[in-house]
Amino acid sequence: MGKVLKFSGNNIDRLEVERRNEDWVSEKINDPNSKVLVYNRSKILVKKIYSNITVKFLRLGDIRESGIDPKLILLGDLGGEIYLATDLNDVDEEIVNGLISKDEEFIDCRTAGDQLSQAQGGMISQSKSQLEWNRKNSFCGICAGKTEGLRGGQSRKCSSCETELFPRTDPVIISLVTNGEFCLLGQSKGRLSRLNIYSCLAGFIDQGESIEEAVAREIMEESGIKVKNVKYYASQPWPFPWSLMIGCHAEAETEEINFDEHEMHSVKWFHRDEVLSALEEKNDKLSVPGNIAIAHHLIKAWATKEV
Ligand SMILES: [Zn+2]
Repeated sequence: MGKVLKFSGNNIDRLEVERRNEDWVSEKINDPNSKVLVYNRSKILVKKIYSNITVKFLRLGDIRESGIDPKLILLGDLGGEIYLATDLNDVDEEIVNGLISKDEEFIDCRTAGDQLSQAQGGMISQSKSQLEWNRKNSFCGICAGKTEGLRGGQSRKCSSCETELFPRTDPVIISLVTNGEFCLLGQSKGRLSRLNIYSCLAGFIDQGESIEEAVAREIMEESGIKVKNVKYYASQPWPFPWSLMIGCHAEAETEEINFDEHEMHSVKWFHRDEVLSALEEKNDKLSVPGNIAIAHHLIKAWATKEV
């Protein structure tokens, strides 16, 4: 096993074989003792004890007793117990609030992924992506008929033309380009430029493109730099809504930056020393992404000469 970054490290057994039996799935999805990860409008329910948070699992029986009939997906088995997930996005706020105690609250999944244990962060990425995929695929793309969830949410089938749909994962390349003692970092327009954070360049892999080709194209588009020797470093599930970040290092073949002003606010070369102090949050002029993001690990691996 390589690097285990935030949002991976999920220990759930997804029960790939058992879930093919719809009767078995139905029994588990109706068992009052099954444990449920509860979302409310894409925020996850957690329990706070001082500054520590853990996911708060509710018993399915308790949710049903409060008058809610949740739409559930089956996550799998952990320690002999069945885990499910639901998003209560169409349930009245007052009823949702009646379910939770004083030290519990719904928080956004980025914050949760940063603060939860490795394994619970992994459960967030599995459940959040799959709930969103099911919610956004309730109609068939071929005939517009209604689709029904199968295998506990791992597939859907059109009730009219019987087309089957499977959950998707969108591959995104993210790459640190280096040139001797310098590395290339950029600020996309929007969130990064608002926070004045410089990060690795990234973009979706296009259809019919290899990882290496996507890195070369994205880096050229966003910075005007030609690259060679693309090397895979690590990957990270990123459940916003269902990406897989594929982290690479690459060497620059050219130096002159000519960045895409439509997409990027700024792209610059930074010296290894500047990057090292930024990683320790001791640089007034440069901020880089924190530990939650794969970009942090790509930058750190190069700056500390791990790669
Ligand atoms: Zn259809």
